[in-house]
Amino acid sequence: MKKMLIAGNWKMNTNVVQSKKLCEDLLVGLTQMNSLKSKVLVCPPFTNIQIVSDTLKNSVILYGAQNCYYEPQGAFTGEISIPMLSHLGCTYIIIGHSERRAYFSETDEAINKKVIAILNSGITPIMCIGETLEERQSNSTFSVLERQLTIGLNNITPDKISDIVIAYEPVWAIGTGIAATTEQVHEAHTWIRNYLTEKFGQFGQSVILLYGGSLNSENADTLLKLDDVNGGLIGGASLKPDVFLSIIKTAESII
Ligand code: PEP
Repeated sequence: MKKMLIAGNWKMNTNVVQSKKLCEDLLVGLTQMNSLKSKVLVCPPFTNIQIVSDTLKNSVILYGAQNCYYEPQGAFTGEISIPMLSHLGCTYIIIGHSERRAYFSETDEAINKKVIAILNSGITPIMCIGETLEERQSNSTFSVLERQLTIGLNNITPDKISDIVIAYEPVWAIGTGIAATTEQVHEAHTWIRNYLTEKFGQFGQSVILLYGGSLNSENADTLLKLDDVNGGLIGGASLKPDVFLSIIKTAESII
């Protein structure tokens, strides 16, 4: 059976009330689908994790965070630690999102520290990688992916690799309404799978690979059907319950 993870990245959207409502709408929609085979995840802003946890209690929807700091506690004003997120019941943490790389100068080295600390806590990291438009146009897509994977996964042993989710998110496709084409996604995911298999052997085969970048109810079927695409990381469309539910339905029809 194909593994499928449909993950919503709410980014810096929703307040406590709106997060609750969004969860309630998703729960209503999901009761109409029986025995979910896909994993469904939502990642609200830090301030709304508690209400999301309360609202989703005993449901099939998982929740996680959009970032973290790698130190467990201390004088790091404004940061949120992994133990804090673990205490709130988060089971996934997105790291290395292109917006964090671009606007908050996150480096591959810092992302690697986060991957290791998250794994040590028993939470699943979702490590985002992807090239900018400039990098694609200068034919450096695969050297960028190679750098991001090599540094981001430094010191990860083969037995740990399948505890990490990798999200391929071409930066030019994020929030633009222009998703990568089927060919581009196929090419990138095949390349990533080969990289993982070469480096980690058979363990690399079972890593969940997500596609992210303007995924919506129109393109979900084609993109999620591709080999080596095990779901999506969804920004804008995850804020619209109908669209997010329709993507989940598509994933269910593919498994
Ligand atoms: C994202 O934020 O990871 C993302 C893929 O956004 P969008 O779906 O809006 O392109």
